[in-house]
Amino acid sequence: ARYSILPGLAVVRVGQDPASINYAQRITKSFGTAGLSVTEIELPESASRALLQAEINRLNVLPEISGIIVQMPLPDRMGLDTVIDVLDPQKDVDGIHPVNIGRLTLGLDCYVPATPAGGMAILDYYGIALEGKNALVIGRSGIVGRPLSQLMLARNATVTIAHSRTRNLPELVAEAEVVASAVGKPGFVRGANLAEGAVVLDFGAAEVDGKMTGDVDAEGAMGRVAAITPVPGGTGPVTNAMLLKNTIKAIKKALG
Ligand code: NAP
Repeated sequence: ARYSILPGLAVVRVGQDPASINYAQRITKSFGTAGLSVTEIELPESASRALLQAEINRLNVLPEISGIIVQMPLPDRMGLDTVIDVLDPQKDVDGIHPVNIGRLTLGLDCYVPATPAGGMAILDYYGIALEGKNALVIGRSGIVGRPLSQLMLARNATVTIAHSRTRNLPELVAEAEVVASAVGKPGFVRGANLAEGAVVLDFGAAEVDGKMTGDVDAEGAMGRVAAITPVPGGTGPVTNAMLLKNTIKAIKKALG
């Protein structure tokens, strides 16, 4: 009200990927509840690299747009550099720009990707400290595994990152005091394999018989672990909250 603008988020999509459409709808709903606007921009599947860049450039300078998300996947002919070559790092609320990734790595203030930020917020909420602990992050994607490992390292955990070529995963799981899994394979982490008293963040979200299912066999983990995030209802909703938080941070920055 003070600045006579309703700041909000722009969600840009190229084509009609159903998961992207679904995610954009969920963002619109949660932002609406918080009183923030979401502008969905859909470019045709046939859109050129130049058109997407022109759209991002337009949003970069619009005062009523505080944050910009470009939804993945993009068509094969457009690499991630199509976006990061033009996206204003100050509006990069998804934390994909090298400036934000670099600042995260250096432990400087930045936009942290919402999903790993949510994982850390859950640990903080329950007062679970990471200092000196063996933490295993399974998955190394740019939006979950990698940034999460940086965040845990910044909290002085001893971090191991596992991926599809990791050979001794069951042994690593058994040794870990904190396990964060972002793979997308239901039941991939066996409950009986987890250490007694382990803390588990399950980011996996795959559909099995129409039901959202995590990476960790939660039933097998019960009674064994100290804490585990459920799927659904664990890391997912907190991701949305973190995106909101990043957008509000962008609004504050833009308004000085
Ligand atoms: P992604 O880009 O497909 O990355 C998956 C990672 O899992 C890759 O690093 C891959 O290794 C690793 N992996 C695959 N098979 C493996 C194996 N057998 N052993 C060890 N690692 C293996 O996926 P993402 O975007 O990070 O998402 C991961 C999961 O999190 C998905 O289920 C997604 O739906 C979910 N997700 C949840 C949220 C949330 O809010 N909770 C947000 C985003 C994503 P390589 O790198 O070697 O291929």
